Order: sequence, then structure tokens, then C-alpha cells
Amino acid sequence: MGTGIIPPVATNLYDALHDDPPSIDTPGRILAIGAHPDDIEFGCGATIARWTSRGADAVFAIVTDGSKGTWDPDADPATVASTRSKEAESAGAVLGASVVEHLGYVDGDLEYSMDLRARTAALIRRHRPDVVLSHDPWQRYQLHPDHRVTGFAVVDGVVAARDPHYFPEQEMLPHRPDALLLWSADEPDYIEPTTPAALEAKVAALLCHASQAETTMAGADRDEASREAFSHKIEAWARRAGHASGVESAEVFKRITP
Ligand SMILES: [Zn+2]
Repeated sequence: MGTGIIPPVATNLYDALHDDPPSIDTPGRILAIGAHPDDIEFGCGATIARWTSRGADAVFAIVTDGSKGTWDPDADPATVASTRSKEAESAGAVLGASVVEHLGYVDGDLEYSMDLRARTAALIRRHRPDVVLSHDPWQRYQLHPDHRVTGFAVVDGVVAARDPHYFPEQEMLPHRPDALLLWSADEPDYIEPTTPAALEAKVAALLCHASQAETTMAGADRDEASREAFSHKIEAWARRAGHASGVESAEVFKRITP
């Protein structure tokens, strides 16, 4: 047995033993789970807009109340949360979501727990999505703890939702989605091309989060010029993601087959 270059092998034997995963054209049902009220829009807004425009049913679930989402030290967290909840409803409507659910955990204080895992599993069992989208918990240098915790709770919720012996007290049938797509992935391997209309919807949905314009959108709502500049940044980001993957413009994800 000589030495030599080791040929590439699947790093996951389970994946290697199974057929290629089904292609995602336009899923019938989508469940997107974000840590904060604007994360879904940033992570996969154009993909959702494109799929819902083709008839997909989309449900959004927002894990925390967004109550720390302000730089104003005098702001009342309950008021911030209530404003952001309304903004999320408007943004969901722009992207064609039929439901926006709020799990109501306190922003910034999210901790991994079996309760949280059970909640994400129950969301999947109740809405029975073909595709689940969320944060990539393995993204290196992801600063925000809520993003990491939400990502892990969704990944683990997908595992629990598909097998009957997890959380039997939920008294819901197991459900196995076709795909789990993780945004902000270090190693994306799934490309969803974006259309101009879908990117426009993504920008419009982000701008629904007016309370966040200063903190996370570089003052996008100050005037028309700022709005244009913000829109161009979103488009440029999608072009960069697309070019790296050989298409004009895209959102990219890590795909996991549950
Ligand atoms: Zn966030």
C-alpha cells in the first residue's frame, strides 16, 4: 500500500450512504426562524419573496422579542419590543408570509435549553415545512449569542421533529423537512438565484424595520439618497454571492438534508 494523495471522501458517512437530496424548486411550505425581528429579511428575504411569488406558503417564527434593539439608553424595552413586533408583521406581509409567530424570549438573554429545542421542534411538526431556514450556528466569529443559540436550537429541533420518540408529549406527528438551509454560512453549498423583484421586496421588507434603520441599516430611512444607497448595497451583496457561485445574483446557504 503506497502513500499518496487521499481522494476526497464525504465527511459524513450518513450522507454518503444516501441518494442525492431532492432538488428544491419552489417548496410548498417554508418555515423561516430568526433570532430577531429583522434576521429573516437579512438572511433569506429575496429567497422567500421569490418562492412566495410562485405560490409557496411561508411562516416566520421570531425567537426573541427584539427588546434590546436600540441605542437609546432611555428607551423602554417593552415599547421597543412592541414596535418591532409590528414592524415584523409588515415585513412578513411584504415577503408574502402568511403567519409571523413570536416565541417571545428576551432579546440578548437567549440561552440554549430543552424548552427552546422543544419549541423549534413543535414549530416544525405543526407547520410541516418542506424547507426550514435559519442562522448557521457554526459560522465562525458570529458575535451575537442569540444568533448562535437560535441556529443550534433549529438544527436540533429539526432532528427532534423527525423522530417520534422526541417530545412525545407534544402529541404531534413527526415531520422531516426536505432541506434545512442555513444563512450566513462560512461554507455555502446551495445557491438560490435572486430576481430584481425579489431583491426589491427584500429591501422593502428590511425598510419596514424603521426602528433599526440607524443601528443596522446605516441610516437607510434618512432620505431618498440613503434609501438608494442601502438598496445598492443589498444588490451588490447579492451579486457578489451570485458571482462566486456562477449566477448573476443570489442568496447562498449551507444545505443540510435532515
Ligand atoms: Zn439578529
